[in-house]
Amino acid sequence: PTPTLRLRNLTVSFAGQDTPVTAVDDLNLDVGAGEVLAVVGESGSGKTTTFLSALGLQRGARVTGQALLNGHNLLAASEAELSKLRGRDVSVIFQDALASLNPVMAIGAQVAEAVTVHHHDLSRAQVRAKSLELLRLVGIPAPEERATQYPHQLSGGMRQRVMIAIAIANEPRLIVADEPTTALDVTIQAQVIDVLRRIHENTDSSIVFITHDLGVVAGIADRVAVLYGGKLAEIGATEDVFYNASHPYTAGLLACLPRVDTGGRGTRLHQIDGNPPRDITSVSGCVFHPRCPMAQLPGPCSTVRPPMINAVGEKNAVGTPHMSACHFADEVPQHREVSAPERP
Ligand code: SF4
Repeated sequence: PTPTLRLRNLTVSFAGQDTPVTAVDDLNLDVGAGEVLAVVGESGSGKTTTFLSALGLQRGARVTGQALLNGHNLLAASEAELSKLRGRDVSVIFQDALASLNPVMAIGAQVAEAVTVHHHDLSRAQVRAKSLELLRLVGIPAPEERATQYPHQLSGGMRQRVMIAIAIANEPRLIVADEPTTALDVTIQAQVIDVLRRIHENTDSSIVFITHDLGVVAGIADRVAVLYGGKLAEIGATEDVFYNASHPYTAGLLACLPRVDTGGRGTRLHQIDGNPPRDITSVSGCVFHPRCPMAQLPGPCSTVRPPMINAVGEKNAVGTPHMSACHFADEVPQHREVSAPERP
């Protein structure tokens, strides 16, 4: 089947002081129909830039390659064509719901506006009924009363639910959720993820869930793509990536998670020293080598860009292609002591 979103050779750069700075480098990635793909990496890894650039929402970016949404290249689309697609075929849920919602408009009216953008034929009563149904669907209690409230009268979790209601108003083929739970506390985070999971179960939408926290994705994602330095470090079925990581960067992110067997107590959280490079093209060989605990230096790690290779044997237990860009993928230690949260 045709993937909902297909990124091919996607490269994103920004104007630098002297020369352009490359933030995403020759990225190839598919989001399958009806799939939940988690895109994970630290801030500066290029995960948000990748998707906002693909959707024409990244300001000041020079974007090359292809971003095919249901076969249509978004990078060749005019602004008018893009705005037609947004909301109808693709919608974005941003981290900061308060900044994304209109502060002087009741939330019911904002959801209604999203409904009417692509449904001019509905009567007022039908729009209202659909808006209330959407608010109910995302778990907003007493939607008739809540619909008259303004964003500042709602909690962070409730505002994020409103954002989800707006995003799904036209049942888009693709929902890009950009760190949708980062500003929320752990309990509310879990509730919002649960809403997204239910939405996914009840629609055919594909979801790209962008996050820096590998811990939040296990319960929702079918596959995980780990980005580092604007390149794909590893991609595979969630279970394979969690239990059989094939890239030292993924192993490092997993080691940052609190251990489940101790309830997160008594463990000092590991940190990966250093930061992702600002300009990928300035790093020779493997883009992770300046931070990699397994780097063989001098050697291929600093001289040869590792290609994406298929993991085999135990590292591919699920059967979905599991690939990583590391010369020593087979030697990456496992983090079995970190339990992936159960999928319901
Ligand atoms: Fe580390 Fe080398 Fe693998 Fe890069 S190729 S992740 S530097 S071991």
